[in-house]
Amino acid sequence: MVLHSAQEILTEIRNKKDVKIVITTHHKPDADAMGSSLGLMLFLNNLGIPATCISPTDFASFLEWMRGSEELMVFEENEAKCTAIADEADFIFCLDFNHLSRINEFGEVVGKSKAKKILIDHHQFPQGFEDYTYWDDTASSTCELVYRFIVDLKMQSFIDKDIAACLYTGIVTDTGSFRYSNCSSRTHVIAAELMDFGIDHVAIHDMVFDSYTENRVRFIGYAISQKMEVLREYQTVLITINKQELKDYNVITGDTEGLVNYGLSIEGIKFAVLIIDRSKIVKMSFRSKGKFAANNFAKNHFNGGGHFHAAGGSSLVPFEETIKEFKTVLKQYKEEFNA
Ligand code: 5GP
Ligand code: MN
Repeated sequence: MVLHSAQEILTEIRNKKDVKIVITTHHKPDADAMGSSLGLMLFLNNLGIPATCISPTDFASFLEWMRGSEELMVFEENEAKCTAIADEADFIFCLDFNHLSRINEFGEVVGKSKAKKILIDHHQFPQGFEDYTYWDDTASSTCELVYRFIVDLKMQSFIDKDIAACLYTGIVTDTGSFRYSNCSSRTHVIAAELMDFGIDHVAIHDMVFDSYTENRVRFIGYAISQKMEVLREYQTVLITINKQELKDYNVITGDTEGLVNYGLSIEGIKFAVLIIDRSKIVKMSFRSKGKFAANNFAKNHFNGGGHFHAAGGSSLVPFEETIKEFKTVLKQYKEEFNA
């Protein structure tokens, strides 16, 4: 894979008169996806370059405070307009994903658009659909990469407090508040530099972690007390949520985020899995600790991928069958867990 420099990419953009730029990110964007997209958009705007953010789907309300989120367009809600904008774009930045299937139906539009695609991403195994690649799977987050992109350009003076807040947030959430193995000393340095732009980190933590609805907290309680299975033989915890439960607890976008992690907080547990019966597919989240590769598990068995310790996938067979299939597949790994 050939990597491109930030300078090369910006030069290409600047060579184009009245340049039209789209920034997109994965479906159900999390804080890293939203923070990197909006942070990059605001940075380009500060350089006098307009850009439109398009998300394949809606996003969680706890990210609405990010500046620029009100302008973000949702493909699912406005397919015709988003398609026209993507078709006319000169460049499409693809942030925090590296496979077109991660942006649902918008992937077809992006794939067909004549625009040059610029990837900024930190996931393993890129598909290679892009024209320019700014990629590092050792980066904690795409927000870290967007910051490094700006630093490579020596353009930190164009970062303002709102941009810093967006980028800081994605770093915090993708590192699990600086505790996962993807967090390096470099990540801490970047977080410190972002804090120096005057962000209110207390308010950010409050908005992201302490602004749950009462419903969401009760749902978490229910999921853990009633729907969690501890499979000790496999050092695995499984939580399963069916359609009725999603309805009963009025679960909305963002409400299930982080739920999978609770399993890993149990002593001796190395693998935590969440299976949710979503409207069209059965969605699966995988988190691991130590030597167990969650992304390989997702890739090999459930059409997925992601990072070594945090991955996702999906299943096309019905919910109950998926649960059975997962338990069957898990048996193959018994020795790996007990090694
Ligand atoms: P989550 O479990 O929070 O949805 O996702 C965890 C990680 O796995 C994220 O880095 C996400 O990008 C990746 N991921 C989640 N679902 C999928 C999927 O269906 N396919 C692939 N390739 N990656 C996924
Ligand atoms: Mn990310």
